[in-house]
Amino acid sequence: MSTHSRFYSVLFNKCPRCQQGDFFVTKSAFSLHFDRMHEQCPHCRENFTPEPGFYWGAMFVSYAFYTAYTLLTFFIFVQGLNVDLDYYLIGLTPSLILLTPYFFRLARRAWLTIFISPVPQKVHPAER
Ligand SMILES: [Zn+2]
Repeated sequence: MSTHSRFYSVLFNKCPRCQQGDFFVTKSAFSLHFDRMHEQCPHCRENFTPEPGFYWGAMFVSYAFYTAYTLLTFFIFVQGLNVDLDYYLIGLTPSLILLTPYFFRLARRAWLTIFISPVPQKVHPAER
């Protein structure tokens, strides 16, 4: 995947502008402090909080991820593998709870990436 793609920064915890610096402080979504973000990019100093309340919109992106996950797993397990709907729902609830940190981080990165375009970093000739 190209490092100048918007998907790259969303999937790999990178700054949407330079795609070099980390977006969240911890690498893993399943650590205790999964929600700690850098205030600005450690590499290019891009502001990760453009305005107060900016990440309210990420809530709707997160909702879309939950919906897509639910529909995808429904069609795989209930429609494709003929799992009973009750067993599916019993398994769905804990999986959604466990995926909350992952979707939280993914939604915030996706939301900021909508507003910030990737800019390729110029490589100094001595670094090539
Ligand atoms: Zn950056």
